[in-house]
Amino acid sequence: MVKNVLVVGGGIGGMSAALALTRRGMQVALIDSDPNWRVYGAGITITGMSLRAFDDLGVLDDIRARGFVHNGMRPRRFTGEVLPGPPLAAENAPPVMLGGGIMRPVLHDILSTRVRATGIDVRLGVAVQAIDQDDTGVDVVLNDGTKERYDLVVGADGIFSTMRTMLFPDAPKPKFTDQGCWRIVADRPPEIDRAEIYFGGPMKIGMSPISQDQMYVFLLEHVPGNPWFAPETHVAHLSELMAPFGGHIPAIRAALGDDSNIVYRPLEWLLLPDPWYKGRVVLIGDAAHATTPQMASGAGLAVEDGLVLADELSKTDDIAVALRGFMDRRFERAKLVVETSVKSGELEIAGAPQTGIMAAANKTLAQPY
Ligand SMILES: Cc1cc2nc3c(=O)[nH]c(=O)nc-3n(C[C@H](O)[C@H](O)[C@H](O)COP(=O)(O)OP(=O)(O)OC[C@H]3O[C@@H](n4cnc5c(N)ncnc54)[C@H](O)[C@@H]3O)c2cc1C
Repeated sequence: MVKNVLVVGGGIGGMSAALALTRRGMQVALIDSDPNWRVYGAGITITGMSLRAFDDLGVLDDIRARGFVHNGMRPRRFTGEVLPGPPLAAENAPPVMLGGGIMRPVLHDILSTRVRATGIDVRLGVAVQAIDQDDTGVDVVLNDGTKERYDLVVGADGIFSTMRTMLFPDAPKPKFTDQGCWRIVADRPPEIDRAEIYFGGPMKIGMSPISQDQMYVFLLEHVPGNPWFAPETHVAHLSELMAPFGGHIPAIRAALGDDSNIVYRPLEWLLLPDPWYKGRVVLIGDAAHATTPQMASGAGLAVEDGLVLADELSKTDDIAVALRGFMDRRFERAKLVVETSVKSGELEIAGAPQTGIMAAANKTLAQPY
């Protein structure tokens, strides 16, 4: 029987796992190597599957209150004309039919406040130095000199996971996709009341409401060679990228300035082969399956991982059976998100339509996880 668990990494995946495991009666310690437990200030899209997972975790009301939830997507041609889109969900439709957005730091605040209120033992500025396991537990040496023993260790330390390297030294490394993602936080005019995506232009641009008065705008740029963009060049660079676009883009472009909140990230992906566990140590979230953002479902997958792990552990006292059950519910789903996102990025670079593969994948993701 799993009684005490160490969760390594306090991102969306680690905090979700900590909450879900605690709810199932397990004693959880959560460590994060960042002494300030910071998260960068960009917006994030929350798809239907992510909203359902947040609902199952018990934080959907907070997300509705502090983020933005809407009932569909409005596609546009890059010149601005509205295109026929998928049908809108009814206002009272279940979360999986809806969409939304939120600032990452706001989501972090919602989850971390819940984690602390739940009495989870949170320790910051702490990382794992060594693990050594036997049939009955895992001995963990932390970088503060502490030595502890746990029934289970959950590695949720993100795409550049050191837990993954410790567990699987030969695991594939994150792979750059020749695309970079620009994100800007901007004031939201009331008419942008749902996600909008601009198709058919030299690149994909979209926007998503993240609160009552803000939205974030994203641009996916083809950047072979993974160049570095000096911060002082960001405004001019984005202004040039946005020039061919119509609709709401000219107003967003005109408002760009030195005080604009702009975040740039090169896009990388990784899919660890099955299994994501060895003995009593298991990887979840981006540590096991880091996706590019085309399907906007990386966060949802990470939350689902935590919920499913807790669910499988509560069904049996045999950890091997529980972790096998976890993999059986997670691998194909994560693979679908990662592979569809990467393929969609390749089609974007080639200027080919991607909506078909995305719609098919979304239909599968709407099924129970
Ligand atoms: C540009 C971009 C845009 C994206 N947009 C979206 C989107 O719109 N919607 C969506 O759903 N997903 C999106 N994603 C994906 C999403 O951000 C990730 O899938 C999600 O954050 C994964 O959560 P995680 O907890 O696994 O990892 P992370 O969020 O990376 O958290 C890892 C945590 O581990 C800690 N840590 C790191 N190393 C150690 C260590 N050695 N010891 C202890 N702690 C450690 C870190 O401090 C951090 O707190 C996007 C990703 C990118 C790159």
